[in-house]
Amino acid sequence: IQAARAAAISQPGMDLHSAAVHTLSLAHDLSDGITHNQLALYYQPIILLHSNALVGFEALVRWEHPKLGLISPDEFIPLAEKTGLIHKVGEWVLQRAISDWKHLRGLCVSDTQHLPFLSVNLSAPELSGAGMAQTVQNHLAAQQMPPHELRIELTETVIVSSLAAVSHTINALRALGIGIALDDFGTGYAGLDYLQTLPFSSIKIDKAFVAQMHTAERSFQIVKSALELSRQLGLTTVAEGIEDLATAAALKEMGCTYGQGYYFAKPKPLQAVQDWAKTFKG
Ligand code: C2E
Ligand code: CA
Ligand code: CA
Ligand code: CA
Repeated sequence: IQAARAAAISQPGMDLHSAAVHTLSLAHDLSDGITHNQLALYYQPIILLHSNALVGFEALVRWEHPKLGLISPDEFIPLAEKTGLIHKVGEWVLQRAISDWKHLRGLCVSDTQHLPFLSVNLSAPELSGAGMAQTVQNHLAAQQMPPHELRIELTETVIVSSLAAVSHTINALRALGIGIALDDFGTGYAGLDYLQTLPFSSIKIDKAFVAQMHTAERSFQIVKSALELSRQLGLTTVAEGIEDLATAAALKEMGCTYGQGYYFAKPKPLQAVQDWAKTFKG
């Protein structure tokens, strides 16, 4: 009820009662949906900009609701976080992504400098659980996936709530060799503090900046500074939301390591991304 109220307040245009009912029934549906196999993972290719080679994927969750159709994670992840269902969602995502990796890894080009990787998004509440690092390790071992091929993306806006609890897990994951990316860089207000205190191995520049870097001088300068900072810290950088050749070319020129966006490919189900990879000329 508490969560429904909070959600009702955050959904303008709906009165409190109908929003609460909507949220409650959606939360109930989600719990059902997880057990009834309604979640799906889509994979979006990540490209090494200097050679245009496919080097990795980001796993992005979808909910195939029987009545409402495909629901975006922006809609149900916040709900899952509020209701505690995020632990179930996260567990499902990790297990599925790691088990799908054997079908994706071979599609990636690998050289001595850039090994294939799979990125998975985790929310802070998932990371504050005590056994999380062990759970991840168990999933990796079950599928014989090397830890360094897994990258966990954390949004800076959500770490803030429970930094102490989260940092313990992040350190443990990093110690296993798992990559940790600071997601949505620039959109929160503590990004630099996190870079100072947490063992990130890469930064993802949010599409809010990338999409506008050609039309807004400020966006361009922010991207440029983020790349410079990343370089100084010895981290790799992924630019997300690349929608055209000009942006890809500019980022490559500016020394950005990886790119991701509709210009290369939209997120797709496993089979579709395998088909796409066969025709992609790196
Ligand atoms: P994100 O991690 O920042 O993911 C990038 C989002 O940008 C994705 O939206 C992706 O589909 C979209 N995108 C990629 N390239 C382009 C582009 O060129 N143009 C535009 N306009 N958009 C692009 P999506 O898949 O709807 O995911 C939204 C957010 O939901 C993600 O943002 C992430 O924060 C969260 N999320 C997704 N999957 C998971 C998950 O498994 N667990 C958790 N905890 N959160 C997830
Ligand atoms: Ca992400
Ligand atoms: Ca983002
Ligand atoms: Ca995000």
